Amino acid sequence: MRMKEEQFCLIKAQIKKLMGQGGFYSKKFAGIDPDSLQSQEDFEKLPFTWKGDLRDAYPLGLQAVPDEEVVRIHSSSGTTGTPVIIPYTKKDVDDWALMFKRCYEMAGVTARDRIQITPGYGLWTAGIGFQAGAELLGAMAVPMGPGNTDKQLRMMMDLKTTVLTATSSYALLLAEEIARRGIGEQIHLKKGIIGSERWGEKMRRRIASELGVQLYDIYGLTEVYGPGIGMSCEHECGMHYWDDYIYCEIINPKTGELVPDGEIGELVITTLRKEGAPLIRYRTHDLTRFKLGDCPCGSPYPRIDTLIGRTDDMTKVKGVNIFPSQIDELLRDIPGASSEYQVMIDHLNGKDIMTLFVEAEPGMDRKILGANIGMTFKSKIGISISVKPVAIGELPRSEKKSTRIFDNRY
Ligand code: ZN
Repeated sequence: MRMKEEQFCLIKAQIKKLMGQGGFYSKKFAGIDPDSLQSQEDFEKLPFTWKGDLRDAYPLGLQAVPDEEVVRIHSSSGTTGTPVIIPYTKKDVDDWALMFKRCYEMAGVTARDRIQITPGYGLWTAGIGFQAGAELLGAMAVPMGPGNTDKQLRMMMDLKTTVLTATSSYALLLAEEIARRGIGEQIHLKKGIIGSERWGEKMRRRIASELGVQLYDIYGLTEVYGPGIGMSCEHECGMHYWDDYIYCEIINPKTGELVPDGEIGELVITTLRKEGAPLIRYRTHDLTRFKLGDCPCGSPYPRIDTLIGRTDDMTKVKGVNIFPSQIDELLRDIPGASSEYQVMIDHLNGKDIMTLFVEAEPGMDRKILGANIGMTFKSKIGISISVKPVAIGELPRSEKKSTRIFDNRY
């Protein structure tokens, strides 16, 4: 994608400012002359910013403005060690709400809607972002936070909530609970806005039909404002992102080179207007691709695809990148295949060999199932594999997120 003139000017001005004031980027970019940045190609030679850099800056090493300008902090989940703290100025908070309002508008949500907010509030960026955007739009925000399903459903019925915002798993839980209690008639939902995570088509269809709503994907990450920097429209063909606030690149996660437009790679984001903690070339670890061409909705904002996975999950076989999400998706559409599988990758006589063990539903002819999966794999993912159906329960179960791909090549 070509960088717009305005984006380049904003980025260059930002880098100059950051390098002139000491702190995070003057250290990171030490030895680089900001005046030598003359083109997109120069920008693309700048080093990436990693989550590890942000952790090393804990607690407030990223702060790029004087204390009196910081009005709030958020923190990304500290499940893996030191958390990351992101300071926000008044303008950052306002800009984020404005982007979030755009997201609601992209989904056709108006001031007449009632928005039930189930993502969490607090250090996490989710709940408060949904709330600020709803208020700026003029809709009625119902700030529930997560959990307490009884109360969620009661509010949903009594207040006649029209928009549900949730993670995909919580939306599914609520949908199932509504079906179980037989209260579908008393639910007035029209739209569901689901936070960015990878979720399968089968789950999407189930939530949409159980709740009787149209679903929208919202994208974002705490390091870059939070959710609300991108949003799908009614045509469900990727997510529009706000290119007046962020600049996106898609790179090969292994080499760091830009991939050709339209190919899958890791999303790298540069903030254009952020004050509290601007980020240059931040590696998100999210895998996606640019969607090329105009969207039927007519929006001028460019699009990235709904998330395909995380870079940590990717593996390459016979020259083709494979993500667990693709295998999940593929098996979901094959009758007789359960969701449980394991992949072994070996290297024999100069060739990669991929073997897919999959649990077959009881009564399923394993030979037919194996052939069906093999054919589908070849046509959808592009390589030939060996499929070995096994009985339900034969593959190991784990309480933790189980490892499904075993690479024995190295
Ligand atoms: Zn669109």
